[in-house]
Amino acid sequence: EIDVPESHPRYQSLLTRHRIEAGVEKGITSKQGLIAEGRGEAFDYLLGERTIASADEAARAAAALLLLAERPVLSVNGNVAALVPGEMIDLAAAVGADVEVNLFNRTDERMRAIVDHLREHGADDAGVPIKGLAADGRIPGLDHERATVDADGIGSADVVLVPLEDGDRAEALSAMGKTEIVIDLNPLSRSAQTAAVPIVDNILRAIPNITEHARELSAASDEELERIVREFDPERALAAAEDVIRSGDLD
Ligand code: ATP
Ligand code: MG
Repeated sequence: EIDVPESHPRYQSLLTRHRIEAGVEKGITSKQGLIAEGRGEAFDYLLGERTIASADEAARAAAALLLLAERPVLSVNGNVAALVPGEMIDLAAAVGADVEVNLFNRTDERMRAIVDHLREHGADDAGVPIKGLAADGRIPGLDHERATVDADGIGSADVVLVPLEDGDRAEALSAMGKTEIVIDLNPLSRSAQTAAVPIVDNILRAIPNITEHARELSAASDEELERIVREFDPERALAAAEDVIRSGDLD
């Protein structure tokens, strides 16, 4: 896929850049997505490019929330589609969620390209509905373009996973009463601060990790899942991530 040996110390980050670049070329990722990627990389560097303990706990709480949800929806934007298309489908299948394509800079071409991309990555075979094209719902408090959702997707979801989401939209979704799971490498970003469950980790590691937790918890009782959610403290998780960044300590 990319002409860099796996032994290269920056292999993972070079691979990530390459995927985002390919996403832009394929018309699924916006140029703004390149900037978001650069910002994420800087934080990943400071976190030691690994899943810190508090992020793993958050991934477990996210899995419990998704399993408990009546109508869970996983939101996919251009960066998410470029980085983890198959992994998002696997997670949706594991927790019985729908996927909704939802773009900050929405264009019909990009919407369609991402829907097709997710189909190429097995959405139909996995029986995972891909939403976003109906565009018949709105998030109150945002201007028209940014407010658009599917009424029977994010519009009526109880739990939403919004990776790499813009802070304004994360706040508006939470104001609508959605329980939000955010994946964001920056613990100071408003998106992370708004989430019921902020996962401060690279999406490349976080999505497969949530899926693994969901599979482990698939036989757990509702009481057990509720206990996991109750014991998770978002402020503590954000503070733990910030501590790692400031101290440079490995947990
Ligand atoms: P706000 O502070 O309002 O939340 P922002 O300025 O952080 O907004 P963007 O730059 O659009 O908004 O957000 C991109 C976010 O996505 C950044 O916080 C960045 O750390 C994060 N990010 C980028 N790539 C990844 C990735 N691969 N995994 C996880 N997070 C990522
Ligand atoms: Mg942000």
